[in-house]
Amino acid sequence: MSNMETKFIFVTGGVVSSLGKGIAAASLGMLLKSRGLTVTLQKFDPYLNRDPGTMSPYQHGEVFVTEDGCETDLDLGHYERFLDQNLSRLNNITSGMIFWDVLTKERKGDYLGSTVQIIPHVTNEIKKRITDNLIDGHVDVIITEIGGTIGDIEGLPFLEAIRQFQFENRGNCAHIHLTLIPYLGTSGELKTKPTQHSVKELRAIGIHPDVIMCRSTTPLPSEIKDKIALFCDVQTSSVISSVDVASIYEVPLCLKEEKLDEVILKALNLTQKSLGLTKWKKFVESIQDTRRPEVNIAIVGKYTALSDAYISIVESLTHAGAAHMCSINIHWVDAVDVEKSGASKYLKKMSGILVPGGFGERGMEGKIRAVEFARTRKIPYLGLCLGLHAAAIEFGRHVVGLSKANSTEIDDMTPFPVIHYLPDQTDGRNKGGTMRLGAYPCVVKKETKLHQAYRKINISERHRHRYEFNIDYIEKYEKAGMIFSGISPCGTLVEVLEVKAHPWFVACQFHPEFKSRPGKSHPLFRDFVGASFKKSQTA
Ligand code: GLN
Repeated sequence: MSNMETKFIFVTGGVVSSLGKGIAAASLGMLLKSRGLTVTLQKFDPYLNRDPGTMSPYQHGEVFVTEDGCETDLDLGHYERFLDQNLSRLNNITSGMIFWDVLTKERKGDYLGSTVQIIPHVTNEIKKRITDNLIDGHVDVIITEIGGTIGDIEGLPFLEAIRQFQFENRGNCAHIHLTLIPYLGTSGELKTKPTQHSVKELRAIGIHPDVIMCRSTTPLPSEIKDKIALFCDVQTSSVISSVDVASIYEVPLCLKEEKLDEVILKALNLTQKSLGLTKWKKFVESIQDTRRPEVNIAIVGKYTALSDAYISIVESLTHAGAAHMCSINIHWVDAVDVEKSGASKYLKKMSGILVPGGFGERGMEGKIRAVEFARTRKIPYLGLCLGLHAAAIEFGRHVVGLSKANSTEIDDMTPFPVIHYLPDQTDGRNKGGTMRLGAYPCVVKKETKLHQAYRKINISERHRHRYEFNIDYIEKYEKAGMIFSGISPCGTLVEVLEVKAHPWFVACQFHPEFKSRPGKSHPLFRDFVGASFKKSQTA
């Protein structure tokens, strides 16, 4: 184990949001890890929700779930995929959590006699969280990304905490500020003024960036770098160009070209040598190969206008495509449209159909019709969580003969509640953090598609749901040709089901998409894409 002092890198953003701070932070983490350093990445979100679990995907995109059952920001998904490392509830902190803890302490009397204030009480709580990841052991580098943009009112306590922390840990901290360099078509110029203003604002708070990373559509010419360096008080070599690229997996390679890791190591007085990025490069080459045959896969969901809502699924399909040397052409199909116009119109040209997780009634009948289409036309099907519920309802209604079978989430008066509320859940009133969350074990039945995929009996996958297959129906379903290939070790929870008379029809109660990694495709996505690829070649 290393005995070096822990180093801290902070990543903030300016000018506009959605610049890809998460990918930039994840890329830096990956580059430092490739130099033999132990690294962790954490995200501090200034919003007041305790976690994103209760937010609409339209507001927030996907809710990523960690092994230990924390509902987190989607950037944690990028962090895990780029670091190839599991993270935990310590890696995503919100203002909601900070204020909650401060107020709980206040009620307990921990601050007796004091006026409880943003400085020092809230900032102290934030500073404590910066180092919380060290509780479980030494980490060489902790990268902390601050959500939002410089100038946001709710971000101020975080920036003040970082200012204090950097002062108290001089020599062990570096700060990266990510901004946008817009290109003005009319004058044909890249403009640096918004960056100058953003850095000025950061410096007014008392933080001086060590690196200015600039997002732009074209690479920054050296005179633009010089200009930013001059106005923002950094070396030209510390102005890093981060140009738009086709795949997020190219970003670490581009940043390495720009010597980001060298600049950061120097700022932190480190000298670790690079161990190379051969595997990563190979993966990137495989997803860039334009000769790869295309496989059409439909994702039938509710938030199809916003692929961020299903980002881990999209990434998992990319990883699986790389494993089979094919490229995945995702067709976003709104389940409500399937409900209105039928499945054939949207799905007849598809080689694979995926129904992702979701909540509530809207679009559910469309998802059930998509399942029916996949089952009866023998198109490979992967159902995730609600996609398992849709599969169970469809099979119940059309094969087992339970007309009007439903989930009690959709219709609590259904005569056949084939999906019902998890019986041992007690707190049904609170919506936040009350689902079955995080990793649970599952026992795999031999001679099934599931076993073919995992090639082992004991697996563990991450969950996020309230409803579950009703085991009173197991026998009827089995007689009708369904296989329950994955069951909880206690034998009472259905984790995976399959349709026997089908080339590849697997639905799981868990979310395999949270565990797929570049170069290590998740077995279920790998085999689903494999079956879809095969289908595309026979069609
Ligand atoms: N709404 C369903 C449940 O709560 C499915 C959840 C999901 O797909 N993540 O069980």
